Amino acid sequence: MCTDFTIISGPCSVESEEQVYNTASELNRLVKPDYFRAGIWKPRTRPGSFEGVGTKGLEWLQNIQKDYNLKVITEVGSSEHVKELQKYNINAFWIGARTVANPFSVQEIVNVCEDKDITVFVKNPIHPDIELWTGAIERFLHAGIKNVHAIHRGFYPYEKTHLRNIPRWEIPIELARRFPDLKILCDPSHIAGKVDYISEISQKAIDLNMCGLMIESHYKPTTALSDKNQQLTPMELKNMIESLKFRANVSGDNSYKNSLSDIREKIDVIDYQLIDMLEHRFKLVDEIGNLKISHNVTILQLERWKSIVESRLNYANPDNISRDFLLKILQMIHKESIQRQNEIFGKKGE
Ligand code: PEP
Ligand code: MN
Repeated sequence: MCTDFTIISGPCSVESEEQVYNTASELNRLVKPDYFRAGIWKPRTRPGSFEGVGTKGLEWLQNIQKDYNLKVITEVGSSEHVKELQKYNINAFWIGARTVANPFSVQEIVNVCEDKDITVFVKNPIHPDIELWTGAIERFLHAGIKNVHAIHRGFYPYEKTHLRNIPRWEIPIELARRFPDLKILCDPSHIAGKVDYISEISQKAIDLNMCGLMIESHYKPTTALSDKNQQLTPMELKNMIESLKFRANVSGDNSYKNSLSDIREKIDVIDYQLIDMLEHRFKLVDEIGNLKISHNVTILQLERWKSIVESRLNYANPDNISRDFLLKILQMIHKESIQRQNEIFGKKGE
């Protein structure tokens, strides 16, 4: 349960002393974030783009930390970066999506974290591989680092979408199931890629009980050297945060609690019925597999599969269940059925 909502904001990258100071000062006045973020070293997909100002920007961040009593945070991609932060008294960093995908780099970073009170935010890897995300978090936890948190920044979209990265909300939900005490924040800026969608993604994150937001902001976004389309001004950020609806994770209201448990009991029964029915269905699939092999007939029967899809989609009421969702379920069941029949063919064909 989220008891301590965290706001992290600041520019995508540190560009100049004037830029970080102006942004930090406006943010501090209007939003008072928990952390001021700014990328010192920027991992760019292609060489030639702005790669950050490097170590000289650490002095500016250190001064911001002191002058505004505002904790600062930046991205690290190597053990050298962590050592640099320690020299400038910066006690928080995040690991970016590209670095998390490399367990060697993550372990090297963990190995130089001598201060166990350091605060670490682990972003998800670019590709939807929850094991890599889990593994990176475990490396920090196993090293005894106490303040380890996660940031969900969306995943590479294999198909064209209006978003820069697709949220795949089921993945951070699974991460929360694996680490019930882990604080998970959302980075709507890198999911959206455009200021227009930041508010709705932030609201969705709150409704899914995420415990904070990392949002890029810049005092003059149009001049930003990286990610300019997704940076809000501090004033826009303030207005956006004020428009969000924060909801409780639980309610003490008795009638709510009773209705919820009544409905949940019904859902429990349906889930067990679904499992029973699937088990029954797979027994029949196995029977067909045995029939097919004994008559030397192929597993895939395209006409049958086409008629299953057509008849089930026609049968379902699209107001109650979306065609896309139903098709996905049918495809999963069909894939599992083929796999079972493959196994039967493998055994009997030996
Ligand atoms: C960033 O936060 O600026 C950044 C580069 O993020 P990500 O690693 O999520 O792409
Ligand atoms: Mn960025």
